[in-house]
Amino acid sequence: MAAIELTGLSTVYPNGVRAVDDLDLSIDDGEFFALLGPSGCGKTTLLRTIAGLERSSSGTISLGGGDVTRTDVGKRGVAMVFQDYALFPHMTVAQNIAYPLRVRRASKQAQQDAASTTSAGLGLAELLERRPAQLSGGQQQRVALARAIAMEAQVLLLDEPLSNLDARLRLEARTFLKRLQRELGLTTVFVTHDQAEALALADRIAVMADGRIRQLGTPKDVFQRPADTFVANFIGSTPMNLLTGTAHDGFVEVAGARLASPDLSLADGTKVVAGIRPEYLAPAAEGITGTVSIVENLGVTSLVTLECPGDVLVGLTVPEHEEPRVGTAMTAAPAPGRLLVYDAETTRLL
Ligand code: ATP
Repeated sequence: MAAIELTGLSTVYPNGVRAVDDLDLSIDDGEFFALLGPSGCGKTTLLRTIAGLERSSSGTISLGGGDVTRTDVGKRGVAMVFQDYALFPHMTVAQNIAYPLRVRRASKQAQQDAASTTSAGLGLAELLERRPAQLSGGQQQRVALARAIAMEAQVLLLDEPLSNLDARLRLEARTFLKRLQRELGLTTVFVTHDQAEALALADRIAVMADGRIRQLGTPKDVFQRPADTFVANFIGSTPMNLLTGTAHDGFVEVAGARLASPDLSLADGTKVVAGIRPEYLAPAAEGITGTVSIVENLGVTSLVTLECPGDVLVGLTVPEHEEPRVGTAMTAAPAPGRLLVYDAETTRLL
């Protein structure tokens, strides 16, 4: 039985914006699921609709096998953390975290245990006696997260749960969240515009655009085989090279080079977009040749930008100690099996 089942779900705002558009989605029990997409794609609206904070215009929502399409927010059995943390200002951090247990009339000991377990993992142990006004934004965010976890609801909904944390804390909170989610088997849906976060945390990702799902798959699926050029462009810390060209004799001709096409059945003259991740391009004797125009240090690797014939820019990563000099010529080829070919017209992966 799916934990969350959405069928033909649409949410239309009074101003006519169709923020969620006829969406079908099934999320498994215990799954860690990411809704990923650029600003305005409808991910927050979808989360709020699942929570019951927005009213769906059509379609159904079922949670744990029960239809909750018309059920009130409080009765859906979901815990939420939204971007405005909505902490109780007069309560301490410990009281805020334990609040759901207090409402349930759990014992004082259980309340204390919940506060100390979740607060330790989220780096809040020193702050338990403070009030929200005495906390930074990132700390407030973690208290809200701890409180939602303490709720032990069947479904946890998180809207950009780590957005206010600095880079290091973010990594720590990410690891904690993933571990805790596994341990408790919480079905969790989280919204993020940060593709790296989605790739790192999620069991599966739905990449959204214009209220619809463009691709649904594991992090590996969406990273290795983006279904269209929109997803290809969106996923990856360094943007994928998307090079327009033509198919010929089992090759694709892009950036002044002829690359062996993975799809030999392409009709000659088909307009294509070759997708190659910078990480999957390496210096080679034959391939795409250009002049090194920019070298950016990424830490362990460096991102090299080549200026190729026709003013086409191609990026590739090289080990930091193999950085080429700006102005020199360089040739690079995709690693075996790493060239993706998209139909230039439909933008779909061929
Ligand atoms: P972000 O990452 O910026 O939060 P999002 O992907 O979460 O974006 P939504 O906030 O769900 O996107 O918005 C989806 C669309 O609905 C946008 O076009 C937005 O302008 C519109 N929208 C959001 N809230 C409302 C509202 N209350 N009334 C009318 N339109 C809205």
